[in-house]
Amino acid sequence: MPKQEFQTEVNQLLQLIIHSLYSHPEIFLRELISNASDALDKLKYLNLTEEPYKSLPFDPRVDLELDEINTRLIIADTGIGMNQEDLIAHLGTIARSGTKNFLHNLSGDAKRDSNLIGQFGVGFYSAFMVADHVEVISRKAGEDTAWKWISDGKSGFEIEPAERATPGTTVTLFLNENGKEYANSYKLREIVKKYSNHIAFPIFLTADKSDWNEEEKRSVTKRETEQINSASAMWKRSKTELKDEDYKELYKTISGDWEEPLFWFHTKAEGTQEYTTLFYVPSLAPMDMYQADYKPGVKLYVRRVFITDDSKELLPGYLRFLRGIIDSEDLPLNVSREILQQNRILTAIRTASVKKVLAELSSAAKDRPEDYTKFITQYNRPLKEGLYSDFANRVTLLDLVRVKSTKVDGFTSLAEAKARMQEGQKGLYYILGGAEAVLRTSPLLEIYRKKDIEVLILDDEIDEIVFSGIDKYQDIELKAVNKTSTGEDLKDEATADTAEKLKPLLEKIKAVLGDSVKDVRASVRLADSPSCIVSDEDEPTLKMQQMLKSMGQTGFPPMKPVLEINPDHEIVKKLEASSDESLVADASWLLLEQALLIDGVPVENPSLFVQRLNRVLSRAV
Ligand code: ADP
Repeated sequence: MPKQEFQTEVNQLLQLIIHSLYSHPEIFLRELISNASDALDKLKYLNLTEEPYKSLPFDPRVDLELDEINTRLIIADTGIGMNQEDLIAHLGTIARSGTKNFLHNLSGDAKRDSNLIGQFGVGFYSAFMVADHVEVISRKAGEDTAWKWISDGKSGFEIEPAERATPGTTVTLFLNENGKEYANSYKLREIVKKYSNHIAFPIFLTADKSDWNEEEKRSVTKRETEQINSASAMWKRSKTELKDEDYKELYKTISGDWEEPLFWFHTKAEGTQEYTTLFYVPSLAPMDMYQADYKPGVKLYVRRVFITDDSKELLPGYLRFLRGIIDSEDLPLNVSREILQQNRILTAIRTASVKKVLAELSSAAKDRPEDYTKFITQYNRPLKEGLYSDFANRVTLLDLVRVKSTKVDGFTSLAEAKARMQEGQKGLYYILGGAEAVLRTSPLLEIYRKKDIEVLILDDEIDEIVFSGIDKYQDIELKAVNKTSTGEDLKDEATADTAEKLKPLLEKIKAVLGDSVKDVRASVRLADSPSCIVSDEDEPTLKMQQMLKSMGQTGFPPMKPVLEINPDHEIVKKLEASSDESLVADASWLLLEQALLIDGVPVENPSLFVQRLNRVLSRAV
C-alpha cells in the first residue's frame, strides 16, 4: 500500500510534541501503557458480556521487552487490537475534538503543555519523542488478519498486512539519540512504578539481567521476565493500607496530569448499595473545563471491570473537573452506556457522591484553608454553576463559594460576611454587573462606605444569573445595592423631608427625560455623586440586558432604569435654584448619561451627549 499522509493536524501535533514538549520525554511510556490498558479494558468487557468474545481465550497483560543490542523497546498487549481502518483512523488522524482544542490551547510553557498532552489524550504520538520510527503490529479481536503500521513521525505512515498469532497490539520503538536512556531496565522499572503501578493489569518486563556468579567469579547475563507493577485495583484496598504516594500515583496514571492532586476523597459504601468511589481534584482546572465537549474525568467500573470513561452522566456537570473512579458492585456488567443516565443504582451513587464530595470540600475549607483558597481560584465558577443547577445542594454550595468584598482583600465566605454584619443591618448587600474595578468605584457604594456596611463584590460574569435567583443566605436576606428596595433600607425620617423638598426638581427632570427612564427619585444612597441608576426588584441589570441583547435575546420588553438624584449634591442644589430651563434640560440628560456610563452602559447617542456637555462647559469656563 502506498505511503499515506498524516492529517495536517497530526503533523502539527507531532512537531509540537517533538520540539516543544521535550521536558518530560519519559511520559511516552505512561501513554503507551495507558493505551494498552484501555485496550485490555475494552476486551475484558466484551469478554465478559458478548459473543464471540466470550469464547475467546483472554490472558490480559502488557509486556515490555527491551532489546538492548538494537536499542529497541517493545510494548505489547493482549487487548482489543486494531484493524486496518482503526490504524488509519486512530493513528493517522486526530479524531477527537479535544485534541484540536489542545493545539489551540498551547501556552508555550513546556511543563504546562506536556501536562495537556495527557489531558487531551494525544498520547500515542509522544512515542516520537524517543523514537526515529515506530512500528505497530495489531490484530483486532475476532479477526484473522493482522496489520503493520509504520512511520517516522514526519512524512506519513505505511500500512501493510502482517502476522500476529493472537489478538492484541505490539508497538516497537526504534529508539533515537534521546530515547537511548530508556534502553535500560532499571529506568523502565522506575518509570512504570512511578506512573503505571496501579494499572489493573500485570506489566511484565523482559530484559537482560546480570548476576554475579560466585563459582565462575564473573557476572553472567540472563534473559529474564518479571512483573514490575502491583496491578491492583488500588481503590478497592482499604484507606488504612494506602499511603499518600499510592493515591498520587494512581491519580497521575488515570488523569495524565503532571501535578499532584489538590484533594482526594476515597469512599467505600456498604449497605443497600455497595460501591467504591475515589475522586480527585486536580490542582489546575482542566483546560477544556469551559468547553461544551469537555472530556469527562470519571471512569465507571463494575466489579473492577472498566465500563466507560466517556459518560457525562456519572456526575453533575458542575463537578466536571473531578477525576477518578466509581466502581459499583451492583450494576449489571452489560449496563448499556445509553441507559446509564436512567439507571436507578447509578442515580443513587451519583447523588451520594455529590453529597460526599461537597461535604469533603466543606471540611477542607475548615481544616486546610490554604489549599481551599487554591481550590477556589480554580473552581469557584463551577461551584456557582452548581448554585443554580443543583437545587438540592444549594445550602452547602452557598457555604462553599467565595466572593470578593469591600471589607477584605481576596475572597470571603458568606458565613464570614454574615459574622461581620452590623447591628440592625437588614441583609447582606452585594453589587454586580461589571468588572471588579468598576464595581468597587460605583457611586452605589458611597452610602455603605459612609455607614461602614460591607458590600459583596460579585464581578464574575455568571454572578448575575446565579445570585438573582438566591434570596437568602441562611436566615439573612441577600440584597443587590442597585435595587430600589435596598434604598428603602437606608431611609430615615430626615431623608423623607429632603425627598419632599426635591419634588419640584424631580418633576422637571422627569418631564425632560420622558420615556428614557421609569422614574426619577430622590436618592438616599449617594454621598459624592449627583446621580445613579437602579432597577426595580425583578428586573435584570442594564448590563445584563445588554448581554442578553448581544446574545440575540430581544424578546423582553425594554426595561428602563430608575434615575436617583442626590439631594445633597452641589449640582443638584444649584439646579433646584436655577430658572434656566435649557440648562436644567441639559443637566437632566447629563445626570442620566453619567450614571449610565458609570454603570458600564454606553450612552445611546454620543454626539448629543457631547453637544450637551459642551454647552454646559462653555457656560462654566
Ligand atoms: P487516546 O489514547 O487518548 O485516545 P492516543 O493517540 O494515545 O489517544 O491513541 C489513539 C487511539 O488509538 C486510541 O483511542 C485507541 O483507539 C487506539 N490505540 C492506541 N493504542 C492502542 C492499543 N495498544 N490497542 C488498541 N488501540 C489502541
